[in-house]
Amino acid sequence: MITTVLPTYVRADLSFERAEGAWLMAADGRRFLDFGAGVAVNSLGHHHPHLLAALKEQAEKIWHSSNLFRVPGQETLSQRLVDATFADTVFFTNSGAEAMECAIKMARRFQWGEGRPERYRLITFEGAFHGRTLATIAAGGQAKYLEGFGPKVDGFDQVPFGDHVALKAAIGPQTAGILVEPVQGEGGVRTIPVECLKGLRALCDDHDLLLIFDEVQCGMGRTGRLFAHEWAGVTPDIMGIAKAIGGGFPLGACLGTERAARHMTAGTHGSTFGGNPLAMAVGNAVMDIINTPTFLERVGDISNRLKQSLGALMDAFPDVIQEVRGKGLILGLKCKGSNTALRDAALAHGLITITAGDNVVRLLPPLNLTDEEISIALEKLHAACAVVSGAQEAAA
Ligand SMILES: *Cc1c(COP(=O)(O)O)cnc(C)c1O
Repeated sequence: MITTVLPTYVRADLSFERAEGAWLMAADGRRFLDFGAGVAVNSLGHHHPHLLAALKEQAEKIWHSSNLFRVPGQETLSQRLVDATFADTVFFTNSGAEAMECAIKMARRFQWGEGRPERYRLITFEGAFHGRTLATIAAGGQAKYLEGFGPKVDGFDQVPFGDHVALKAAIGPQTAGILVEPVQGEGGVRTIPVECLKGLRALCDDHDLLLIFDEVQCGMGRTGRLFAHEWAGVTPDIMGIAKAIGGGFPLGACLGTERAARHMTAGTHGSTFGGNPLAMAVGNAVMDIINTPTFLERVGDISNRLKQSLGALMDAFPDVIQEVRGKGLILGLKCKGSNTALRDAALAHGLITITAGDNVVRLLPPLNLTDEEISIALEKLHAACAVVSGAQEAAA
């Protein structure tokens, strides 16, 4: 018999009753250190006093009024995002996929409005993930997500990760732009080198294409800068964000330059819930904390410490960990054996991690992790690696 909850997820048989900071408390009393952060969503951990206060205060006033009226929180948060980025304008959504849908529509609409309606195609990269709507699965191009859902939405040309020749060859008279995650999350924590991001910007300028970044997972402070592309010193024309900006409340956004957004006029796009007062209260509260130099600097410091220790862990267990990759606090352990075995062993020791493509275990802790929590996580990872190493030896 089918479960009442549509069975589209492979879930661990575990649920949580409460959470505090980087810790999740299970119904059976066990405590878990959260190095998944709800897939990079709980950027400030759980039950953060500033976020809680903002949500409670807003909940006492007004929850929802629709986009038929001005929403002051949208005006504040969009101004703050504009001030902090390349962007001139912001559309608010409830999720990452919706942010990317808006980005795709904006790119197509731009070309159409400029008198080039034939330019509707976007170049994307193998291993990409942009969401689970019909257009975003087509953009991501992964066969397992496309199978059985009818004709793939047209307009996406995928090239192998890092293949510059294929990339240049894919640009044609129908190309509207290039879409890329500066750090691939689901694809296995693969960072686009700074030089390549610069190259993409130059390529787009040369061919009058739009550059679109998907920073749904790697953005909002996770790499130690507010947005990951800042490391390369280049800016996109359009960018989708979500996950961390809501700190646990469903919130995403599509940011654009005035030029790229110029044909997104009244009536061309919309969302009933997008940018409602509750989401805006939390989004503004998240910005209060993350968008400060001291906070972002500390993300970098934590990351250096964590990465160094993970390197030592790899040296201790070369049969389990093959490579430590990633930037800031989006880190990946590429496994020699099975990544699910390492994830499960970590879970058994009270540490939550998330698997990713390319046989990787992903570490996405809250950005305000303490030094003590890093030490605890490393002890747990050490114990988990010992279990996996032992099991591998026994099987050999
Ligand atoms: C999670 C994710 C999305 C999709 O976000 P949803 O909120 O699940 O729709 C899109 N792009 C990237 C890079 C992501 O990590």
